[in-house]
Amino acid sequence: MTDGALLPGQPRGGRIDGPATDRAVCVLAPNPSPMTLDGTNTWILAEPDSDLAVVIDPGPLDEGHLARIVSTAERAGRRVGLTLLTHGHADHAAGAARFAELTRSPVRALDPAFRLGGEGLTAGDVITTGGLELRVVPTPGHTSDSLSFHLPADGAVLTGDTVLGRGTTMVAHPDGRLGEYLDSLRRLRSLTVDDGVDTVLPGHGPVLGDARGALEFYLAHRANRLAQVETAVEAGHRTAAEVVAHVYADVDRSLWPAAELSVRAQLEYLRGRGPA
Ligand SMILES: [Zn+2]
Repeated sequence: MTDGALLPGQPRGGRIDGPATDRAVCVLAPNPSPMTLDGTNTWILAEPDSDLAVVIDPGPLDEGHLARIVSTAERAGRRVGLTLLTHGHADHAAGAARFAELTRSPVRALDPAFRLGGEGLTAGDVITTGGLELRVVPTPGHTSDSLSFHLPADGAVLTGDTVLGRGTTMVAHPDGRLGEYLDSLRRLRSLTVDDGVDTVLPGHGPVLGDARGALEFYLAHRANRLAQVETAVEAGHRTAAEVVAHVYADVDRSLWPAAELSVRAQLEYLRGRGPA
């Protein structure tokens, strides 16, 4: 879910549906909206010679979309051996139980409520399926159960809603927390500095080919927004709704409810930090 800001110079187009890296193919779900951009990106990952695939975020409960994921894998000579969730929001996870039935494969997630016949996932876990290696990177903040998956062989990281292909994400207060989100962005940035990650495969919007630039922008954007919220509070805007109307005046009103959750997260963060 986005809160409406655009990366500098970013066009509003750029939907992706098809191969993105050597090991990653996107199947775009038919659920576009102001909150989900072009729709949810479902990712099929596999080693080039493998007959086993991993699916990340089967998306909404949409029979046509779930069937298209299976047929896309089958056309490449693969069956789905494992499904992973970046987090439990319905646009990513509502189709997971039905998808597990269709593929007879387990679902792994951080939140036990979303696991099906699979183990959990914790920080630093390394998943190997059909020779494909994925490393689990905890990235709470958008939600408390948000995970990213590092795909070292392609220099890529799958970020769910933690980093989007267009615009910036919302911090879904009260479950999502700004302090955790900033730590998660720094953790992802360190993958781009120390671990050769240059590509972001996001949960919505197009692939980002400059992962480090995108993370620098996200961190700068968060700092700017926080300063704006702080100024708005000092100017006497007290409630989250008043702060939104002031700070997000240039953002489409359909995104204000999402922005209000982000503002609540920012107000909580500022209170926790105390007076400067
Ligand atoms: Zn989400």
